[in-house]
Amino acid sequence: MYRVLKFGGSSVARATAMSRVLDIVEKEAEKGCVVLVSSAISGCTDALLSGDTERLKDMEMRHRDIVTRLFTGEERRKVQEKIDGIFKQMYQAPEDEKVTFGEILSTTILEAKLKAEGWKTKWLDSRELVIKDDEPQTFKNISQAVNGADMYVAPGFICRDKNGKISTLGRGGSDYSAALYAAALNADSLQIWTDVPGIMTTNPKQVSAARTIPRMSYQSALEMALHGAKVLYAPTVAPAMEARIDIEIRNTFAPDGKFTVIGAEPDPTRWIGVASEGGKIRVVGTAPADDAVTAAKNALKEAGIAAKKISADGNSLNVEVREAVLDKALRALHRAFFQVMPVREINLFIAGDGAVAKALCAIIEQSAGTVKERTGKQLRIVGRANSRKWGIDVCGNPQLDREGDYIDAILTQAPQGAIFVDVTDSETIYKRYVELLEAGIGIVSSNRRSFAVPYYDYAAMHAAARENGAALRYETTVGAALPMLESITRGTNSCDEVLSIEAIVSCTLNQILGDYRPGSETFASLVRKAQAAGLTEQDPRLDLSGKDALRKLIILAREAGVQLEEEDVEIVPVVPQELFQGSVEQFYHGLEAYEPQFAKQARQAESQGFRRRFVAWLEKDGKGYKAGIGLKNVPPVHPAYHLRGTENAIIVRSAFHPYPLVIQGPGEGAREAASSILNDILR
Ligand code: ADP
Ligand code: ASP
Ligand code: MG
Repeated sequence: MYRVLKFGGSSVARATAMSRVLDIVEKEAEKGCVVLVSSAISGCTDALLSGDTERLKDMEMRHRDIVTRLFTGEERRKVQEKIDGIFKQMYQAPEDEKVTFGEILSTTILEAKLKAEGWKTKWLDSRELVIKDDEPQTFKNISQAVNGADMYVAPGFICRDKNGKISTLGRGGSDYSAALYAAALNADSLQIWTDVPGIMTTNPKQVSAARTIPRMSYQSALEMALHGAKVLYAPTVAPAMEARIDIEIRNTFAPDGKFTVIGAEPDPTRWIGVASEGGKIRVVGTAPADDAVTAAKNALKEAGIAAKKISADGNSLNVEVREAVLDKALRALHRAFFQVMPVREINLFIAGDGAVAKALCAIIEQSAGTVKERTGKQLRIVGRANSRKWGIDVCGNPQLDREGDYIDAILTQAPQGAIFVDVTDSETIYKRYVELLEAGIGIVSSNRRSFAVPYYDYAAMHAAARENGAALRYETTVGAALPMLESITRGTNSCDEVLSIEAIVSCTLNQILGDYRPGSETFASLVRKAQAAGLTEQDPRLDLSGKDALRKLIILAREAGVQLEEEDVEIVPVVPQELFQGSVEQFYHGLEAYEPQFAKQARQAESQGFRRRFVAWLEKDGKGYKAGIGLKNVPPVHPAYHLRGTENAIIVRSAFHPYPLVIQGPGEGAREAASSILNDILR
């Protein structure tokens, strides 16, 4: 029938706070006999320990102020007299006993107020009842002392040691006092009232995202308390646990809000909270923590923090960091272990079944876990199609068993936020883009044919995307995984003006020109090899004619805000135009015959210290922009001089910058293209 309620320093810091305490206590008194245990008013214990006259005077003022506000008339005078008397005793007390007076002061005021309100109260002198390190005697003393009143008020923190000397239970010890009173009386309820809504996943003063833990075991509460969660004084747990009394941690300033119940039941969650003390952090858990070391490492790495130590210790993790980054580390670990990001599902409808499509599906499958963890996005392939058949399955396992129009099916079945992924090389599929965008379906495409269309069509797609809030991304169309388009768009968005672009973006020609040495293997033979290696288009003339580079140049130019059309670009093919007529075999014959001339040009360039590169270029001149594609001799200072194999590069000069932006790197490969598409999907 006893209910023990303990209030901490901030819960009794002022008259208004004390009034709240009394409200809570009086409400609780309807359910049983209340034992009110209180700390000293906040700051008082520190002031008493400091012995600083100024601070002690300030404490006198604060107590006087509380008395003035809580009492009137004769009562006020009497209580004030008592308080003055206690301060006097304090000043006369031995140095090491001064600290024990804070709790006497606060409880004297609380008891007087309850009495004034008509309660039959009794003040319990914890200095006589609580014997340090002797629980049996303490319990006997308390159970004998508690009788004859409706309500009891007892100072926390203070006690007597076994030698009879007045002492304390240690800083924060009032929680423990309350547990001792509760255990001694076999109380129905033990409530620790403080300034936060219970034990939280971490200290809310350091991490604002901290959440209240509704239920936890004695063991976990003890772990949190032992490693720095000051909200509960660690020795409090044992007496409550032995007496099988639940401990409630509640917020004085939001009495009906969230709170924590600590009890005998096992914890309902794997991870409990993050506590910290000094530079040491403890992530408290309920199952062996060995497998969580990597997650903690990654979380810190992502936050840019080098941990001094991360190790599993039973069910918990120990982490050591420099003091200076403690709060940042706490936030990072808290985020990783306790902030479940809302997962957003992204449904993908893929069109195309070539090497890139296969690589994309493989990457998505492989990286699903990491992607979800890092971005909170869950990718699911719900539609697939080749040029003949398609399948849609909302559960993510589409089979290619349907005929007819895939895009019509997507338009009727795609859920919110879906993305259509075009990894085909269809010349006509772009005509459906606007419909998809208008249905709110995003488009990610690696199909450059879709964007080297007449400017009118290109602009319509962008307008549809903008107006319907749908994504339209195609970074992969130039330079595979290299961020070429994005780099140009960023400049355009911020009013920088492109003065020139040089794009060395034909993988096939970069490889062939790089390998070509006049006098050794012929140009024709190198083209044949490239074709056999699958490096060229089916008809290698498409690469040599500059058609592919043309598409890329158009896309780059448009990204720079230049409305370039095919016919604006002057193309000089690598070999004379006449060779492009007839069959592929005839073309190779023509190429063999052309070898002496080709070799001569190459020798000439070499003798002047140049290398030959196939360059697509755009340049601003007086009237507007000029554009062309063809072989250029580049000197050693030119960034393209050093390109290797199938590497791509763009060199962008702009109005804002004295030196060009150069992006160079692997420009082809199914894996590269797939990773670029994935990034477009996730953006
Ligand atoms: P009281 O004076 O009521 O005993 P304390 O200052 O001793 O209060 O303990 C409450 C404080 O504990 C909170 O203000 C909070 O800053 C700190 N704290 C540290 N860790 C936690 C945690 N995991 N959950 C809640 N509070 C915590
Ligand atoms: N007043 C004591 C302290 O400040 C005990 C407590 O508040 O629990 O440590
Ligand atoms: Mg405390």
